[in-house]
Amino acid sequence: MSAVLRAEGLWKAFGEREVLRGVDVALARHEVVALIGSSGSGKSTLLRCLGLLEPIDDGQIFLGEEDISDPRVDGNRVRARFGAVFQAYNLFPHLSVLDNVTLASRVVHRVPRGEAEERAMALLERIGLADKAREHPDRLSGGQQQRAAIVRAIATDPEVLLLDEITSALDPELVGEVLELVRELASDGATILMATHEMAFARDVANHVLFLDGGVVVEQGPPAELFTSPRHPRTREFLARLA
Ligand code: ADP
Ligand code: MG
Repeated sequence: MSAVLRAEGLWKAFGEREVLRGVDVALARHEVVALIGSSGSGKSTLLRCLGLLEPIDDGQIFLGEEDISDPRVDGNRVRARFGAVFQAYNLFPHLSVLDNVTLASRVVHRVPRGEAEERAMALLERIGLADKAREHPDRLSGGQQQRAAIVRAIATDPEVLLLDEITSALDPELVGEVLELVRELASDGATILMATHEMAFARDVANHVLFLDGGVVVEQGPPAELFTSPRHPRTREFLARLA
């Protein structure tokens, strides 16, 4: 398997606290991997380390063939190859939705404004937000904001999408529309690593699930196996608590 993203032996501490303790991850092209685990287990830190938003203490990260954990790499160039969406506050409040979506294409990838806007409008059209293109984010519902944030993340054709609990700050009635968009991207062939609390969604959409506990991947496998017959007592405990 030639992985799009592969990490080996990742270690990360904040002060004395070891948050990632030897984590391995691999994503094949078009694969959707769900990252599950209790709050504080290290999911966000792992996503941030993989996307070079946080330095690691040890280990290696490959994006395609490139060792992006090499200290000599140009972080900005590498970060531009990822799309990332977080729990909340993804959009710049002072920019229109359209400018939010086109900013990276224009500034980082040097796409001419006309071309970037045409592409952005097509994406906004697709998610039913074309009429909001000139509005500021605060005029959108939380669900619309997260969908716009996803569209912004894919506007540059990233090699990997990192999604960090993108529905956890939403009112329950807005969760569905955001998950639906992720489902569509997955079926279009996006390569996605997503931390999520939405177990039904993970079970349905992910090809592979990683259960992180105390900064260690204690169990992983296809969702049908991991959710139905977890082998590790910590996984069983975690899933039982959700039930
Ligand atoms: P999760 O996303 O699974 O809830 P996190 O990766 O956010 O877990 O956090 C894992 C641990 O790392 C927690 O104990 C958290 O307090 C700690 N942590 C995360 N980010 C920082 C930081 N920037 N500084 C210090 N500690 C942090
Ligand atoms: Mg988190």
